[in-house]
Amino acid sequence: MPELPEVETVRRTLNELITGKTIGKVSVRLPRIIQKPDDPEAFAALLEGRTFTGAERRGKFLRLMLDGLVLVSHLRMEGRYGMYREDEPVEKHTHVIFHFTDGTALRYKDVRQFGTMHLFVPGEDLISAPLRKLGAEPLDEAFTPDAFRAALGKRTTKIKPLLLNQEVIVGLGNIYVDEALHAAGVHPEREADTLTRAEKDRLHAAIVATLRSAVEAGGSSIKSYVNGQGEMGMFQHKLKAYGRTGEPCGTCGSPIVKSTVGGRGTHVCLRCQKPPKGSRAKTVREDRAPRGHAVKRRLDGTGAADS
Ligand SMILES: [Zn+2]
Repeated sequence: MPELPEVETVRRTLNELITGKTIGKVSVRLPRIIQKPDDPEAFAALLEGRTFTGAERRGKFLRLMLDGLVLVSHLRMEGRYGMYREDEPVEKHTHVIFHFTDGTALRYKDVRQFGTMHLFVPGEDLISAPLRKLGAEPLDEAFTPDAFRAALGKRTTKIKPLLLNQEVIVGLGNIYVDEALHAAGVHPEREADTLTRAEKDRLHAAIVATLRSAVEAGGSSIKSYVNGQGEMGMFQHKLKAYGRTGEPCGTCGSPIVKSTVGGRGTHVCLRCQKPPKGSRAKTVREDRAPRGHAVKRRLDGTGAADS
């Protein structure tokens, strides 16, 4: 599933590609992608004749801005956008097509069909589902160490599932949570309220630095993710913990081990990220992967998704 850096990469690409383009017609080929309005024909009718004015983002949601409307789009597992000329053949799994008046088209493809689109008048989207309950935006200026500590509050939940909770902080998924916790030296099973102020501040800095660096690299290409222009992100080459089971930690050389936290595959260095009392029993040490195996699996685009 694309996380904040991947969605941000798509946003930037779309912002360049669609701004100023006017929609002539919209074809909805798979109605269930359209969540609001209920009727896909009404969705198409509302959009026809409108011009895209830019692309914004809230958490992992794209906010495609038009004159007088906002299209909120969630890519979920496999959704992706591409710009095409109208004479190019429509590929399989293309579910929504925005035909522009200049002979090009924005096509939305989604093999898994989990993606969603909602149409709102501007402003209404931020106070309605699915955006209403979203938490702190980690790349905003307002996301200060104080704001992060306030978002964690006095919660006693384990820190990893808490960081994955989009109502607390948006945009983080399994990859960047593992990376940020590793960079901050915080074990994912620590209960949030047991973190010292210094640890919370380190974690705040690690979240911001990890996401910034990933956005700069154009996101990660784990599995089949590609950005709006079909280029692969490069951040997977910088991963320090995620997907590196059995490889040495870049900080101390201990092998990265994989366990399960809150049902999610989790990668830690047990020397840099000291486990809380009692968690060791739950940490399953995996056999060392054959050299190069992990990298190959990530790059060939066919590896199984890491849950
Ligand atoms: Zn280490």
